[in-house]
Amino acid sequence: MSKKIIIAIDGPAASGKSTAAKYLAQKQGYIYLDTGAMYRAITYMAIKNDAFGHEDKVIELAKNIDIKLSFEDGVTRVFVNGDEITEEIRSPEVNAKVSEISKIAEVRVEMVKIQRKISQKGNLVAEGRDITTVVFPNADIKIFMTAELEERIKRRFKEFYEKGIKITYEEVRENLIKRDKLDSGREVSPLKKAEDAFIFDTTNITVEEEIDRILDLINNKLNHNAITN
Ligand code: C5P
Repeated sequence: MSKKIIIAIDGPAASGKSTAAKYLAQKQGYIYLDTGAMYRAITYMAIKNDAFGHEDKVIELAKNIDIKLSFEDGVTRVFVNGDEITEEIRSPEVNAKVSEISKIAEVRVEMVKIQRKISQKGNLVAEGRDITTVVFPNADIKIFMTAELEERIKRRFKEFYEKGIKITYEEVRENLIKRDKLDSGREVSPLKKAEDAFIFDTTNITVEEEIDRILDLINNKLNHNAITN
C-alpha cells in the first residue's frame, strides 16, 4: 500500500483553518476531515439526551455514537446514528458547550480512533486542535494557523449574521475567549503549536494569499521529500 499524505492544521476558532483545509482538500483531491464537527456532534447529542454535565453518560454516548461525515460542494455534512445534524452542530448553544465536552479524555480517545481510521482511506487534510500534536504527529505538513482575536470575532460574527442566527457581537467575543481558554488550558491534548509546525497568521491577508502561501509550502515540502526519499 502506498504511503498516504497527511496535511494537519491546528489553530483557534475562526483562524482560517476550515477555509484553507476545504480548499486544499478540493484542489488536491484529498479527504477533508473536520474534527471539530465530531466534537460538536457529541455535544449536540449530549444536550439532546440530557447527558450534558454527566461525564459518565457523555462517555457512554461517545463509545456508542455512529458519526459519519461527508464533504460535498464545500460543505461538511454530519450524520449521527443516521440522522443529519449539519445545521444543529453550529448553533450558539453547541458553541457554548463544546469545549466542556472536548476536554473529557475518554471522549477524545473515541474521536481519535475514528479520525485515524478515516486517515487509512486516502490522502487527507485534517483540521482541529490536536491534529499536529496528538492525532497525526507524523503528518507530512503541519500548520498552526492563527489570527488576532478581534479579527476572529469579526469573522465568526459575520458567519452567524449571514446564516440569520441571532447573536450579539459581545456574545461571539465571550464565546471565542472562553473556548480559546478552555481549549488551550485543558489537561488532555490542549491546543498548542507543535514544534515542527509552520505558523500562519491570517490576520492581515486575504483568503487567496493564505491559500497561495500554503500551496507553496506544500509544493516545496512534498517535492523536497520526493527528491530526498
Ligand atoms: O473547529 P471547531 O471550532 O468547530 O471546534 C469546536 C470545538 O471542538 C473546539 O472549540 C474544541 O473544544 C473542540 N475540538 C477539539 N479538538 C479538535 C477539534 C475540535 O477539542 N481536534
